[in-house]
Amino acid sequence: MTRIVLATHNQGKVAELRRILGGLDIAGLDDFPGAPDVPETELTFEGNALLKARAIAAFTGLPAVADDSGLCVDALNGMPGVLSARWSGRLGAATGDRDAANLRLVLDQIGDVSDDQRGAAFVCAAVLVVPGGVEHCVEGRLRGTVIREPRGTGGFGYDPVFVPDGETRTTAEMPPEEKDAISHRGKAFRALAALIPAALS
Ligand code: IMP
Repeated sequence: MTRIVLATHNQGKVAELRRILGGLDIAGLDDFPGAPDVPETELTFEGNALLKARAIAAFTGLPAVADDSGLCVDALNGMPGVLSARWSGRLGAATGDRDAANLRLVLDQIGDVSDDQRGAAFVCAAVLVVPGGVEHCVEGRLRGTVIREPRGTGGFGYDPVFVPDGETRTTAEMPPEEKDAISHRGKAFRALAALIPAALS
């Protein structure tokens, strides 16, 4: 069975991809000591995911999957976007809880935006790079609204302020399987999964 490497140290993501790609042998970067830590220097989700997957495919010689994701807020012209993880910069990092600082900054920035203009999307680009072979890139999106105060303790990042369209709960109030079923990352990984058998044959 061909081994596929997911370009992340995040065990949650490795577990999620294993659930979606049931039956395939999925490794994470913890299995490859010395793997490069690739800076996300591109301005698109696809560009950053490709940077990571190409570097890990080259390092391991194995097919590599990588993703990049973030929150795109309509009233902020699509930002924080690829900067979602670092939106509050050094000040946020200094607080010791970067996720909370990022979320608070976005809430402050759109504090004056009316309820009907608080639309946003979680976006995820997922790519597969086969050494000496094909490259595939797919995107998954989850549309929703940014509420005014955090709710819920599940998930991570901006989950406590994001209510998907057609829902009343934030993604931080949903059980993980329910979030996976509709999430940007779930959609992107499932779309990529459908392309993997042909890409490896
Ligand atoms: P990365 O794709 O792991 O680099 O994540 C980028 C950043 O986007 C995270 O640090 C979060 O701030 C945000 N983000 C991406 N996906 C989610 C999600 O499912 N829930 C909440 N925040 C997310």
